[in-house]
Amino acid sequence: MTQVINPATGNVLTSVPSLGLAETDAAIERAHKVFPAWKAVAPGDRARLLRRFAALVDEHIDELADLEVRNSGHTIGNARWEAGNVRDVLNYYAGAPERLSGRQIPVPGGVDLTFHEPLGVVGVIVPWNFPMPIAGWGFAPALAAGNTVVLKPAELTPLTAIRLGELAGEAGLPEGVFTVLPGKGSVVGQRFVTHPAVRKVCFTGSTEVGKSIMAGCAEQVKRVTLELGGKSANIVFADADLAKAAASAPASVFDNAGQDCCARSRILVQRTVYDEFLGRLEPAVKAFRVEDPARETAEMGPLISAGQRASVSAYLDDADVAFRGTAPDGDGWWFPPTVLLAHSPADRHWREEVFGPVVSVLPFDTEEDAVRLANDTEYGLSGSLWTSDVGRALRMARAVETGALSVNSHSSVRYWTPFGGMKQSGLGRELGPDALLSFTDVKNVFISSED
Ligand code: NDP
Repeated sequence: MTQVINPATGNVLTSVPSLGLAETDAAIERAHKVFPAWKAVAPGDRARLLRRFAALVDEHIDELADLEVRNSGHTIGNARWEAGNVRDVLNYYAGAPERLSGRQIPVPGGVDLTFHEPLGVVGVIVPWNFPMPIAGWGFAPALAAGNTVVLKPAELTPLTAIRLGELAGEAGLPEGVFTVLPGKGSVVGQRFVTHPAVRKVCFTGSTEVGKSIMAGCAEQVKRVTLELGGKSANIVFADADLAKAAASAPASVFDNAGQDCCARSRILVQRTVYDEFLGRLEPAVKAFRVEDPARETAEMGPLISAGQRASVSAYLDDADVAFRGTAPDGDGWWFPPTVLLAHSPADRHWREEVFGPVVSVLPFDTEEDAVRLANDTEYGLSGSLWTSDVGRALRMARAVETGALSVNSHSSVRYWTPFGGMKQSGLGRELGPDALLSFTDVKNVFISSED
């Protein structure tokens, strides 16, 4: 059994089983056995089951959100959005089974058809930072495309995934089609990599573990989608709406206590407005409400664990702290929003993913400087750009090496649009129209029309 802790208090919430190898194998084998029957479900019926699952999630939004507040320290507002995102992603992909068309390609001597065949069992490995949405981005398109799914939540945050697994059963998904397997990454997650019946692994987490999963999957030429770390830039030009850019910067990095792969944790500010921008940023950071995440007014809760707080704190050693917000004292893994001044792009806090409520600020001079500094990282997941010059917005949007970029806003993840990283931030795309096909292989069939 594993103890589940409330990060806002440090108290034990409950215990959940930590599955071993034999139980993992049994679940994978069940998913493998039921795959042909799930694949054969008529498209309209599969769509109906997914819609019923979405409706049940919708009926349980408050319960799921409450679980996430207590297990992950997410603010109640965020947690409700996250449960709603699972519903929306299920509804979005519920439209897919009836639209998963192949092609008819003109060829001599007959007819050529393509089919998008499901892969088989898909293993989804979920991190602790967004337990519900990241689970849904994996299981919803995988199930819609006709795969069966085994899903491992993070050991720290298994509760909402376990509940979603129960709701799937209540919605009528046959046993074995979607199974949640709580346990350790090194046991359950690793078995997804090595078990030959698992034909694809969707992994979200650290770049280090992601690389080992990719290497392990290579053994069996197993499909893999990786969503890894980030060090996204928030680039503010002198011609931008500075008030809006400064007011929105705290949420773009401190949301979820900065434990977000899309966090805009590097702010690049054009030198001519650097002082003015910092002057506007300071009150916004100080006003950012860090409090009991169950309160409706909370904008940020605690960090996930004592270990995470220790690793975030270490980035402040020898760093130049510009100013900080506030956080509750006492029990729980609290950490105030913190703004650091970078003196060089070599500073450790400028280069590494902190995964906490810490943002680094650096001035730049020209557009070319901004591109060079923004791209001087192994990561490329997200980013934002503030300017009133539409030509510059387009030039910058094309020049910054990142999978998602928003202009005059901080939007990253919308379920209608593709999400994923360039460079070492990942491989493949989730969400939007692109994700579905990554859970299928193309089969080409030629039918001769000759006598
Ligand atoms: P990990 O990459 O270790 O964990 C992510 C998931 O992978 C968890 O479910 C974990 O299981 C599982 N896992 C761990 N090792 C293996 C393995 N060998 N084989 C298969 N699955 C495995 O991230 P951490 O939780 O350790 O976080 C460390 C850092 O990673 C963070 O500080 C942050 O920088 C980054 N990170 C990035 C995320 C993102 O969204 N891109 C999300 C989370 C972390 P278990 O339950 O045992 O931990």
